[in-house]
Amino acid sequence: MGFKARMTRAAGALTIVSMTRRWLVSALGLLTALHMSLSRPATAQYFAADLLPQELLDACDAHARPFGDYDKHIANAADALIDLGVFSESEFGNVDIGYCGLRAARGPAATISCARDIILLDRGYGSKERGLALTITLAHEMKHYLQHQEKKAAFGEAYCQSEGYAADKIWMERDADAFGDEVAALMVSGRPVELVNECPVAVTYYLEADRPAGAGERRQRFEKAPPKTTVASAQRALSREFKFYGASAPMEGAQRVWQGKTMAHRRFIDGESYGLARKTLANAERTQGPFQLRLSCAPESDG
Ligand SMILES: [Zn+2]
Repeated sequence: MGFKARMTRAAGALTIVSMTRRWLVSALGLLTALHMSLSRPATAQYFAADLLPQELLDACDAHARPFGDYDKHIANAADALIDLGVFSESEFGNVDIGYCGLRAARGPAATISCARDIILLDRGYGSKERGLALTITLAHEMKHYLQHQEKKAAFGEAYCQSEGYAADKIWMERDADAFGDEVAALMVSGRPVELVNECPVAVTYYLEADRPAGAGERRQRFEKAPPKTTVASAQRALSREFKFYGASAPMEGAQRVWQGKTMAHRRFIDGESYGLARKTLANAERTQGPFQLRLSCAPESDG
């Protein structure tokens, strides 16, 4: 994460605002302010990470922890990105992460080692109040991890010491900044939700996001998806975890029902009690596109 690239972040965030709903304006403004307050230096000139003393980076690298053993604020940020479908657990499984006194050494707010796949975050991120900024910064550094993986797969481990890497850093920084902006928008507005009804008949369903975004109104009512149709839900979600009940219209006298096998998640809707099934939805792209619930009425499918 470089100083110059950071300066363009506010402009990037504002572009997103103009393209999305008005209620995002204040939220994103706050988010940007939060983020900038840590990332943007007040007056001093900050160095790129590769200008910091190697002993400092080595000492910090040695204290970075693997996935499952991250500091709690880092773990929360990683979980938020996994829940949003931006990164997978197995991707975090390859990256050690820890804090480092980067700003005190006049370094960047965060950095990642190309050769070691270790992310260092400034100690200033280690608080609950910084959670959102930490999550966006972590997304930015994880984007670098993906960039490095792709290049190391093509050019081998020597890539990290190559002149090619030095030259690539410019577009890598630009792409990681754009990616961070997209994740910021996703963190505020949530990801859209779609139900794909592959059945030859209509499906009546109830879908409840574990973490709804925006107004967060829980709609305790059924909706209907026509046969062979994709329906966009009115809700947006901050997590891929949902609860779900569905029932198909009769097909050759039989009806397909999707419901919870236990009494754990029950809802009273229109005076009747329904057991909801837990559903972890998938998304095709990291920062774009919906969470999708795909329902099949094929005999051997469990929908
Ligand atoms: Zn960067």
